[in-house]
Amino acid sequence: MNAAAKLLDRLERVKQTAPGRWLARCPAHEDHSPSLSVRELDDGRLLLYDFGGCETGAVLAALGLTLADLFEKPLGNFAPSHSRIPARDLLEVISEEVTAVAIIGAAMLAKKTVTETDWQRLAQAAARIGRARDHAHGR
Ligand SMILES: [Zn+2]
Repeated sequence: MNAAAKLLDRLERVKQTAPGRWLARCPAHEDHSPSLSVRELDDGRLLLYDFGGCETGAVLAALGLTLADLFEKPLGNFAPSHSRIPARDLLEVISEEVTAVAIIGAAMLAKKTVTETDWQRLAQAAARIGRARDHAHGR
């Protein structure tokens, strides 16, 4: 089993967005809409980026994996670089967040009140969209 298959096998709600690119539920936080981006490089290395803000180490630990599992073969002390995420995947994440905001907005309108949970989800949407923007700016 290669590194990608081993990782994807352990993730939930995996959706392939392009050849060698996937979005999945992050196992390291309460992830309601898939926010973990997985990218397989030509040499078989995997790059992970969580729009929920989890560190790669935390994501791997939640799956019972280590950084070494991201590589087909040992590469010495290679540190995963900040991956470039395609605009399409960024838009996918933003679209999911905006949909969540619209659903919460409709519930708020109906109930004429805002619950703590709704409020936290809105704040999370704002944070995730902000991270997507920062990523697009290469920060
Ligand atoms: Zn996460």
